[in-house]
Amino acid sequence: MSSSPSTPAAGTPSGATGATPWHARECHEVAREYAVDPARGLDSEQAAQRAREHGPNALQAAPRRSVLALAAAQLADPMVVILVIAAIASAILGDKLDALVILAIVLMTTALGLSQTWRADRALAQLQQLAAAQATVLRGGHPHAIPAHELVPGDVVLLEAGNQVPADLRLVEVAQLMADESALTGESATVAKHAEAIAAPAATLGDRHNMAYLGTSVTQGHGRGIVVATGTGTELGKLARHLAPARPDTPLQKRLAAFSWRLSVAILLLCVAVFWLGLLRGEPPVLMLLTAISLGVAAIPEALPAVVAIILALGARKMATRKALVRKLSSVETLGSVTVICTDKTGTLTQNRMRLERLLADARPWLPGEALATPCQRQLLVAAALCNDARPDPDAGTDISTTWIGDPTETALADAASAAGIDKLALEARLPRVQEQPFDAARKRMTTFHRQAAGYIAFTKGAPESVIPCCTSRQTADGTLPMAPRAALHDALHDAQALAAQGLRVLALAMREHDALPAPDAVAGAESSLTFLGLVALFDPPRPEAAAAVRDCVTAGIMPVMITGDHPETALAIARMLGILGEHGGEVLTGAALAQLDRAALLAAVAHVRVYARVDPEQKLRIVEALQDLGHFVAMTGDGINDAPALKRADIGVAMGRQGTDIAREAASLVLLDDNFATVVAAVREGRRIYDNIRKFVRYAMTGNSGELWVITLAPLFLLPIPLLPAQILWINLVTDGLPGLALAAEPAEADVMRRPPRHPRESLFAHGMWQHILGIGLLIGLVSLGVQAWALGQDRDGWQTMVFTTLTLAQMAHVMAIRSEHVPLWRLPLATNLPLLGAVLLTLCLQLAVIYLPVFQALLHTRPLDALELAVSVGAAAIVAVAVEAGKARRNARAARAAQAGGTAAPAH
Ligand code: ATP
Repeated sequence: MSSSPSTPAAGTPSGATGATPWHARECHEVAREYAVDPARGLDSEQAAQRAREHGPNALQAAPRRSVLALAAAQLADPMVVILVIAAIASAILGDKLDALVILAIVLMTTALGLSQTWRADRALAQLQQLAAAQATVLRGGHPHAIPAHELVPGDVVLLEAGNQVPADLRLVEVAQLMADESALTGESATVAKHAEAIAAPAATLGDRHNMAYLGTSVTQGHGRGIVVATGTGTELGKLARHLAPARPDTPLQKRLAAFSWRLSVAILLLCVAVFWLGLLRGEPPVLMLLTAISLGVAAIPEALPAVVAIILALGARKMATRKALVRKLSSVETLGSVTVICTDKTGTLTQNRMRLERLLADARPWLPGEALATPCQRQLLVAAALCNDARPDPDAGTDISTTWIGDPTETALADAASAAGIDKLALEARLPRVQEQPFDAARKRMTTFHRQAAGYIAFTKGAPESVIPCCTSRQTADGTLPMAPRAALHDALHDAQALAAQGLRVLALAMREHDALPAPDAVAGAESSLTFLGLVALFDPPRPEAAAAVRDCVTAGIMPVMITGDHPETALAIARMLGILGEHGGEVLTGAALAQLDRAALLAAVAHVRVYARVDPEQKLRIVEALQDLGHFVAMTGDGINDAPALKRADIGVAMGRQGTDIAREAASLVLLDDNFATVVAAVREGRRIYDNIRKFVRYAMTGNSGELWVITLAPLFLLPIPLLPAQILWINLVTDGLPGLALAAEPAEADVMRRPPRHPRESLFAHGMWQHILGIGLLIGLVSLGVQAWALGQDRDGWQTMVFTTLTLAQMAHVMAIRSEHVPLWRLPLATNLPLLGAVLLTLCLQLAVIYLPVFQALLHTRPLDALELAVSVGAAAIVAVAVEAGKARRNARAARAAQAGGTAAPAH
């Protein structure tokens, strides 16, 4: 990377000049070299200038496959190669026009495949762009969230627990900052960071405790650092330069690839048989060779895995527009198998728009809007404003004291304090924060230390059961009284419980004065002998769409489960509002009770418990594993750092895109851009639709192929001449496989998509009678085509070959329209719900008419114009196929209805 006077040595963490490495320099030296004030960051002009100099902060992306490479991959199919060689050979032997036509059709098929693969690649690239990491950077004195690739050397990056470090940083300020560097150093223990210079210039990466490196993550605390290396100049960049990220095939693609290989061998054998049979009957060898190879090209389902990839990629792109971002393509195909959705409460089922509902200080309630009646109430709100990381929103205009950004619990408290006339910023100026023990979900509390005129004052806020037991005294109108007798403690906990039972989120606040600051590693120990200040209760309304989504889950055979860090009473109240409890009453399992359960008891519990409360994130892993042991296919939401193991373990890990941490997103296979439970359910529905459509595509393509195989192989057995010419076989393959097949991907969800039970994850793609359909309907297509051939030959009609050709094409169009639904009859499927398919079918019909009636095509494909009777016979024969498919649907529906009557079960799986 180039360097400039303003950004020396930006590409390398140790300095391009070989001077003292960054970790061995003082913060102010680093800041001076980058010409940046760590309190303001760069301004936008500086940043733009440096972006031009240094390029994006990105590791070498895997190069998009070029069109040429894609074309080469298409043409490398061995069957295509053999066909081309055979066509060239036949051209040399004399049949030049036929050979050219064959080559032209092969070229068109290749172009079609190419455009499809290109579309799939583009859809995936767009998804990757959406999933790009973000960073919080200080520019012009204000924090901004920007895509991490826009970071430049000298930028001041703000880090907080849960962040992935977006570039290599020299830390200039830390508060209890801990990092997980295992991805870079292999060291699994988290590392405590500081901002002092390290005297040993040769310190190894793992010992540079004042640096934060790209690819590592912040597990606790917060801090800020100056970007000293970006992109490939980072330590990770140096490692990753040679690793092109692969895009692994999904399990379904792999299974299909293995399957089509086996099927190809069988088809090849059949083609050899066709060739020999032809020779035995005295057909010209070159014609038979081309016929056999064309049949192979047309019938071998080599494109199945590729088309599945396209359907998955397009499906994933559509899901992104509905706020569900797919990180692992395989989850698109498995979403439909989900049997349990374990979800957080706050922000996922609820709106995460907290507001203070009431406050209880010295056992006297206060409601927002009222004037503060007692000093105790005021003291409680002061504590709530100071033990609080909410920041004024820089973009919110002038009256900054009323708009806050940060954790909704905290912004609600800051709002309430402002509304009661307490100026958080003025308070912070008077009592500056000098030390802290940040919130973490396992301890469920946080403490901040502030300097005051004499000594220090610490405020603690957190879950009542976590804070109240640390209190030995309480603040009352009569001054500070001891908590003893313990009844006072019980009263406080009881008050908290009563508030929680109303669905409110309750926090306790406490304080303690200190003469001296505790050492950084003794801060947690200082959370004792506290003075209880009171309780605050917040209401977080359920999301309006959540109750309907819960109902959808239940009808779709999916068990909704709430797992929350909140109080059991709050959890139950919200679960009741949303209908999560179902007929299973009000049982709630707490983290403490869960910890006592042995394996057998846990398995028995998870089978029916719908609400888990006060659960530590680590326990989510136990819950997922127990559910999986019971045979469930589990989707699990999470947002915190400690949720990552459960998200990885779940069959579908779902992370929050808004409130979630980078670490959770990294571990997940699905990211909710709106953090909404209903979006998980919508994604499951979409997953089921996409899987159905993959099945429809496979059903359509393979039935068509089987029909073509039956026609060619059965003809000699019925003593009929070869029904189709090689070019005609390839033409059918081109027009029928290409457009209509892919248009099936646009098919809307079937009406029963969320009324049937989840599909077993290991169920074959060909389950529910698909094999029988492929062979049976394929045979029917073959027989009606041969029937038409026999009739035409019997009548001495010249156009017999064109009739077979037309019947085969029309039969496939009739088939594709009929299999749009597995249950609903063709005439009840509105045409407008899949216009691409309608368009593709009409186009195919027009092309077929052109091939029959336009003289150029007649010459190229050896067709004859059909008269009205001939055309009518072909159309009628094709219609038989649709009738047969409809009869099959009616039979299946009747069987399902009988079964439902007998067993009272839900709709059939397919
Ligand atoms: P969910 O797991 O459904 O998202 P949650 O947000 O309540 O629920 P956590 O964030 O783990 O779960 O919080 C657990 C508990 O910790 C809360 O019920 C609350 O009592 C306490 N708590 C949450 N946020 C804060 C905070 N900013 N400061 C102090 N205590 C908090």
